[in-house]
Amino acid sequence: MQDKDALATLAWLVEAGADEAIAEAPVNRLNAKPQIPMPPPVSLGSRTAPPPQPGNDAIGDAARAASAAGNLEALKAAMEAFEGSALKRAATNTVFADGTPSGRVMFIGEAPGRDEDRIGKPFVGRAGQLLDKMLASIDLDRNRNCYITNVINWRPPDNRDPSPEEAAICLPFLRRHIELANPGIIILLGAVAARHVMGVTEGIMKTRGRWLEYRVGDAMVPVMPTLHPAYLLRQPAHKKLAWRDLQAVASRMEALGLPEPALQGS
Ligand code: URA
Repeated sequence: MQDKDALATLAWLVEAGADEAIAEAPVNRLNAKPQIPMPPPVSLGSRTAPPPQPGNDAIGDAARAASAAGNLEALKAAMEAFEGSALKRAATNTVFADGTPSGRVMFIGEAPGRDEDRIGKPFVGRAGQLLDKMLASIDLDRNRNCYITNVINWRPPDNRDPSPEEAAICLPFLRRHIELANPGIIILLGAVAARHVMGVTEGIMKTRGRWLEYRVGDAMVPVMPTLHPAYLLRQPAHKKLAWRDLQAVASRMEALGLPEPALQGS
């Protein structure tokens, strides 16, 4: 195939909605033997069953499942078993968290994207690579001393903004997640996290850089909203603002003796 033809085919595929390559070599599906027995023809009137609808009380179901979880593993299992989210039915994986909760430094982003959905961990794509550099700039490392999750744990189709209802279903899980992770400091990445965790309605440009507080049990935990790494990839000139916020986080961590050192032998 000429390069020109290959490019035209690629453009056509993108236009038709393809957004990822799933194999190195093309497969001629007209020649391929079917691997799965074909289902019997369906008569008119027996269309595919509609996907199960969430119970009327999906938020209540989420709250009950979340509060029954006594540790992070149980919470992850409860989310993987949860049937009340339409986002979950469309997603490949439940994207629960990554990192080291024992460091007690918790980052909360928005929602998984394509790479996170495929791999099942938050912030593993381009925004995640920038986040890792931001962490390193204040001596944090997800494998050593900080913990990362999102407000939404299932990828919204086409990376659209989660609807208020979709977010409301995830919130009981997030609140329990924060309780169980027991952070000594929380950093919110972007406006969606600031809105859903702290109820902030003004834009992130106004909110970033100002300390807020979140109650966990009897403790008030300092919260720093800052800019989302995906936004910084689009607006690199604003990296200096995020840098300032991270410097404030570093000072506060030092004052609080965070990140908490790893236990010997762990
Ligand atoms: N953006 C997010 O907010 N979270 C991710 O996990 C990845 C990108």
